[in-house]
Amino acid sequence: MKPWENNIRKVIPYTPGEQPKADNIIKLNTNENPYPPTQEVSRILSGFDAGRLRLYPDPAITDLTAAIAAYHKVGSDQVFVGVGSDDVLAMAFLTFFNSKKPVLFPDITYSFYDVWANLFHIPYETKALDDEFNLITEDYFCENGGIIFPNPNAPTGILMDLETIEQILRKNRDVIVIIDEAYIDFGGRTAMPLVKKYDNLLVVRTFSKSRSMAGSRIGYAIGSPDLIHCLSDVKYSFNSYTIDSVTIDCGVASIRDEEYFRKNCGKIMETREYFKQELKALDFVFPDSMTNFVFAKHRTVPAKELFHALREHNIFVRYFNKPRIDNYLRITIGTREEMDTLLSFLKEYLNK
Ligand SMILES: *Cc1c(COP(=O)(O)O)cnc(C)c1O
Repeated sequence: MKPWENNIRKVIPYTPGEQPKADNIIKLNTNENPYPPTQEVSRILSGFDAGRLRLYPDPAITDLTAAIAAYHKVGSDQVFVGVGSDDVLAMAFLTFFNSKKPVLFPDITYSFYDVWANLFHIPYETKALDDEFNLITEDYFCENGGIIFPNPNAPTGILMDLETIEQILRKNRDVIVIIDEAYIDFGGRTAMPLVKKYDNLLVVRTFSKSRSMAGSRIGYAIGSPDLIHCLSDVKYSFNSYTIDSVTIDCGVASIRDEEYFRKNCGKIMETREYFKQELKALDFVFPDSMTNFVFAKHRTVPAKELFHALREHNIFVRYFNKPRIDNYLRITIGTREEMDTLLSFLKEYLNK
């Protein structure tokens, strides 16, 4: 070992889902939206004056922050915008999780949480979900250095009700509680109204899934002005210019077209319900999903085998080779046609 190796930060990085280059594939592996963003975004892109790129973007991301604040009916001082929710969450870990007590999150959840905890040397403890993958509320009543979980949870797709979430908040007034609502637009009830009541609650959202803008990298957090102020101080200590000028304008355009957004989410939910019925008929079992994916296992055929068989047919889904979930596939809801192609392949493969 070389002497300088002692001073290197060593991490096991997060593994993002594959982004294959070929265009003849059905891509249901990273929970992207199958539909394009609102036409207003194309209008912004084609009309953008490249001369503006000479200048740094607005470091305060004022216009997008104001648009998001108006959309959620909160003050602009309650909104923090970042480069995708991954950036927002990383900043939040750095800002809010500085206790010697462990941060708590479920054993089966978004697999970036333990990566950030390790990166920032934050102590953490995972709490096992029950056999149906439900979060056990009482597990979060112990002393801790902060709490984070997605609602609905990923990759299970299970939605928690607001009453249960409030129970956790009531027992945790002295730490920051982060709720990652990456999938809340697909039929869940948001914890956003609780922000008024709990100044230690941070709700995180993304444009990547429900707003069809994974490529733009926009995420945001809503919380009390105090929390947002602290997040902002850390951001300005790290990188002041996070969102580029084009993306700021595209984000505003997306927020303004609420009708398209609602219609789009509605279409995906409709396809999801149809897909659930069909999957059930093929002998798959799955927790009821309130997201744009279904986390399913087949009663007899191993998930790993199905994953490879689908891949051979240019259908990409997500498989996690991890304890407790290594017999499940996470299948993103695409267009109705994409789901039908997947279903007919499965029918044939399973001899149905
Ligand atoms: C997709 C996802 C994110 C990251 O979203 P980006 O905004 O694209 O960085 C965060 N949390 C969960 C639970 C997700 O599924």
